[in-house]
Amino acid sequence: MQERIIAAIDLQALARNYRILRKAARGARLMAVVKADAYGHGAAAVSAKLEEMGIDWLAVRTADEAAALRGAGLTRPVLILGRTPPERAAEMAALNVTLTVTGPEHAAELSDAAERGGFRARAHFKLDTGMSRLGFAGADELAAWLGRPGLIAEGLYTHLAVSDEPEDAFTRVQLERFTAAREKLARLGHIFQFTHCANSGGMIHFREADPSDLIRTGLALYGYEPGPGGGLDLRPVMSLWTSVAMVRTVRAGETVSYGRRWTAGRDTRVAVLQCGYADGYPRALSNKGEILLRGKRCPVVGTVCMDLMMADVTQVPGAAAGDPALLFGESGDGALPLYELAEKAGTIPYELLCAVNARIPRTIQG
Ligand SMILES: *Cc1c(COP(=O)(O)O)cnc(C)c1O
Repeated sequence: MQERIIAAIDLQALARNYRILRKAARGARLMAVVKADAYGHGAAAVSAKLEEMGIDWLAVRTADEAAALRGAGLTRPVLILGRTPPERAAEMAALNVTLTVTGPEHAAELSDAAERGGFRARAHFKLDTGMSRLGFAGADELAAWLGRPGLIAEGLYTHLAVSDEPEDAFTRVQLERFTAAREKLARLGHIFQFTHCANSGGMIHFREADPSDLIRTGLALYGYEPGPGGGLDLRPVMSLWTSVAMVRTVRAGETVSYGRRWTAGRDTRVAVLQCGYADGYPRALSNKGEILLRGKRCPVVGTVCMDLMMADVTQVPGAAAGDPALLFGESGDGALPLYELAEKAGTIPYELLCAVNARIPRTIQG
């Protein structure tokens, strides 16, 4: 392999995951969450494939991300999940992008901007049901803003705090609070066209308890279940590859990398890999991670550097410069599940996927 590092994106796996999630959604519409460059997978390519498959909605975090989707020719409805500054509201309205209204101050700013600018903003109102993050505190606080002429109140949603834990009763509490608020708003005369509560975990573990008709799914599309026991047989969409720069012998008693945190107990063949924490490989995996080389798992030795890392490849006699090495994902001769890496690194798959940044070239198959 000539390239230093490659994120291989398998759009067939994405299509397969999409079909599985369509069934799991049991008739609800699906919103693909493609924020943070589709969790590192490349938002334009992922969104185009999902549009081709029939996705109902796309969701991003920022106005820049929404504008980029429209610039790439995507036509499905787009929701911005975060707080959009009122200065960007006119531009978003022109691009037919829907905004989240995150609370009373934001509602005031957005409706003022729209009334002054002579446009109407498509709006999904966010309700806080227990995440204590963004959102209106309750139905009464929210109701005050529903009549404003600058805002098209087409959606109501909330976000779940523990939907990745199937045994935790709090998700049902949140869903009940949401339902109560929705019913109260209906009695006040407001029916929303779109209501949504579930993320991937909510869909996989609490579908039967969720009263809404739209589901926001990110992680599951990319091939991972956020919690245990869903059994959906999803496939990883991304596999991260690097290549061996050189293989050297480190004599017994010599040390490897910064801080001298690994000492060779015997003469050791060490591969120098062209990937580091600047490419998203966590430094926390120093002396802990594994790579897959020629079908064999080899331990990461020494501290992971910014651009390089080392692995003990003594058990792979033919290992040579130019060999591809799998960091996570699937290959023809084995797999390295991202879950394992995340657990060893003390984090979650989400963080490791998002860490695969714009410096890393992507190859797209399918
Ligand atoms: C990121 C995000 C999601 C997607 O969550 P997954 O667990 O990846 O499915 C859904 N809703 C909101 C509000 C988000 O910010």
